[in-house]
Amino acid sequence: MNPERPGSLETLRRHNRVRVLEVLRRRGAASRAAIGRETGLSRTSVSSLVADLIAEGVVVESPDSEPRSSSPNGGRPSTPLTLDPSAGGVIGMDFGHDSVRVILTDLSYTVLDETLHELDVDNEARKALAHAAGAARTLLDEHQIDRDRVVGAGVALSTPVRNGVPTSRAIFRSWLDIDVSGELEGTLGVPVQVGNDANLGALAEARWGAGRGISTLFYVKAATGIGAGIVLDGQLFRGSTGSAGEIGHFTVDEDGLVCRCGSRGCLEVRAGGPALVAQVAHSGKALHSVSDLVAAARAGDPACTRILADAGETLGVALAAVLNILNPDRVVLGGELGAAGELVLTSLRERLSRHALASAVRSTSVVQGQLGERAEALGAVLLVLTEAHRFVHA
Ligand SMILES: [Zn+2]
Repeated sequence: MNPERPGSLETLRRHNRVRVLEVLRRRGAASRAAIGRETGLSRTSVSSLVADLIAEGVVVESPDSEPRSSSPNGGRPSTPLTLDPSAGGVIGMDFGHDSVRVILTDLSYTVLDETLHELDVDNEARKALAHAAGAARTLLDEHQIDRDRVVGAGVALSTPVRNGVPTSRAIFRSWLDIDVSGELEGTLGVPVQVGNDANLGALAEARWGAGRGISTLFYVKAATGIGAGIVLDGQLFRGSTGSAGEIGHFTVDEDGLVCRCGSRGCLEVRAGGPALVAQVAHSGKALHSVSDLVAAARAGDPACTRILADAGETLGVALAAVLNILNPDRVVLGGELGAAGELVLTSLRERLSRHALASAVRSTSVVQGQLGERAEALGAVLLVLTEAHRFVHA
């Protein structure tokens, strides 16, 4: 489902249903009248949506729950409603460049299960979508969650996204103009929301991880590609066309190699996953992923340790510009490279000190993400149960 796209009555109803669930999830208990006030929906709409949710077992009438409010005109008190988190499911999907992660949570965001599939996501959009849909169906079957009880699916994509549609051929080649939410809604039969992966990782870290309580957060997802999400006062900042935070295509070396975006010497060309793995090959080792590289460095391999420290320096050059422009309270490093922690962060901070304004460096903490490689998929789940990215700090 995409609220910015003209939709059918059914689409509108699904959207309103999520709004009702969000009020209950946030407040714990609420009367129909309170739900109406918070959502702006009419009494009739709220009654009808709540009746469906009660019939499905997702919402229960709880006479003993607070608050129990009297009707202002002396009518009978309204019965508080509560959510039965275990009665509903939410799906989160994270499409990286070469893998798909699918997670299943209940309505309280407790992760019930997850799977990771290696796949050529970059070049095979429809195959990746079909694979992820199949994985989601398997998870639902294994946990015996009926399709009617699935509130929705959130999707994280490694590309700028506008109104749920990928917008950059250069960055995610076979996905341009594919109606991801429409295709997955057709296959899964549940509402689907789509967002940029780094933006969703930023939301998840702001809500549950290293960005909790932080006003201005800059989250970097460093994996095969490098992207970033910006959260300002609890709200995601997307920019004019949804490409805010594309730090991977910041020029760090004007004479460097040509990037897939068409520019030269981008951060991603120097510190993206394939570049780091290629550097390992020069040292005489054959490792296949950034995770292998991090593990080898942790085990004391000097070449791998040096590669990570250099990646930190390169990231620091790009982030120094971010510190000067945005003056964030915190920078969080996530993705596969984030798992390297101080092996990357020490040299990154040194570069910040050298290149950014001293006052900006002093006020910014630079830390490792707390949600690991799950952050983007968790952000996708968050996307389903929040309205237009609000309530990050709720
Ligand atoms: Zn580039």
